[in-house]
Amino acid sequence: MIRKTRLFTPGPTPLLPAAQFAMAAADIHHRTPEFRALFQRVLAQLKVFVGTQNDVLLLSCSGTGAMEASVSNLTSPGDRVLVLTAGKFGERWADLTKAFGCQVDLAKAPYGQTFDLDQIRAALKPDTRVVYMQATETSTAVRHDVEAIAKLLKEAAPQTLLVVDGITGLGTTHFDVDGWGIDILIGGSQKAVMIPPGLAYLSVSERAWAAMEKSKNPRYYFDLRKERKNAAKGESAYTPAVALIAGLGAALDYIAGQAGGDLEKGRIALVDNAQVNAAATRAGLVALGFALFAPTAPAAAATAVAVPEGMDSSEVVKALKTRFASVIANGQGEMKGKIFRIAHLGFFDYLDTVAFLGAMEHIAKDTLGLPVVYGQGVAAAQKVFAQAAARS
Ligand SMILES: *Cc1c(COP(=O)(O)O)cnc(C)c1O
Repeated sequence: MIRKTRLFTPGPTPLLPAAQFAMAAADIHHRTPEFRALFQRVLAQLKVFVGTQNDVLLLSCSGTGAMEASVSNLTSPGDRVLVLTAGKFGERWADLTKAFGCQVDLAKAPYGQTFDLDQIRAALKPDTRVVYMQATETSTAVRHDVEAIAKLLKEAAPQTLLVVDGITGLGTTHFDVDGWGIDILIGGSQKAVMIPPGLAYLSVSERAWAAMEKSKNPRYYFDLRKERKNAAKGESAYTPAVALIAGLGAALDYIAGQAGGDLEKGRIALVDNAQVNAAATRAGLVALGFALFAPTAPAAAATAVAVPEGMDSSEVVKALKTRFASVIANGQGEMKGKIFRIAHLGFFDYLDTVAFLGAMEHIAKDTLGLPVVYGQGVAAAQKVFAQAAARS
């Protein structure tokens, strides 16, 4: 039988065909009026997609490059920062801030859980310069409450900057960047915006620009002030990933096209799409006898599922690949073998969800030996979809 290759991974995610065509056609030089027009259009669209009046910059790098930029540009050696960590990407903030000589305080939550606000309040010090966190911790598929944490900072530590890795949060959760006071919000191209890896984007507040005037850590390729100056002229400091930028423009057009050309409404629809697919996936997998790894604060970006005690999630990953040519993600680090993760961010639709659950019924039965009745996972997802359709 034909087996179509399908990505269900939380980055890279499936590519939008219109973006692939735009990338293939992007045979333009970056110091030309054609490129400047494209770059300025995409930067303006990104502001709407992120939902901010702040500057939005585009960098040619993976998401971690923008994470590094938000450490090197905002801090000086010896600065005290607070990292909120509940998984592998939180640990990346801790490693990065240490690499740039910061004095790092940690507020931790166990894998699969989110933070307690009192714990964050207690970890804030009068001299905490920056709080670094994820909006969604992709390694555990947990959603953190950025709004509540931003509000807490405004009350308890109004001088402290807030930097949010929204790399899988953008396009799967709602943000009010300016209202909540997020100083830097970071996104990545291989996630909800449906294009390949290689671009990172970030919004930067006036407070963050002011902090950069005083910060002393070294920076060269990721010098955000230099990028801001160049972006104002429709250029980037170095050779940008031209084809990816053309693809991003096409993808943002597609997202706007989902709501009659209104990108803000299209972004809201994209978030709703991820949320409904995530809820349907959770219901389907629970009906098949799986336990959710993050039951109290599940992300819409991805779902993490624990396999029953004594079973190996690598078997599920392998069986989906060999039998159905579909790729899901294993657990990272010490979660490998214990959980598997399926993405909902970007170019996934309801039929993808139903197909995934249909395949999982075979695997739960044949590979894991669970007592599955065919249709039981799919039916649970259909109920969620029908309820969501009735509401909208
Ligand atoms: C994918 C991802 C990143 C970025 O990783 P890169 O490999 O550098 O693109 C960072 N944070 C989160 C939460 C992610 O999901």
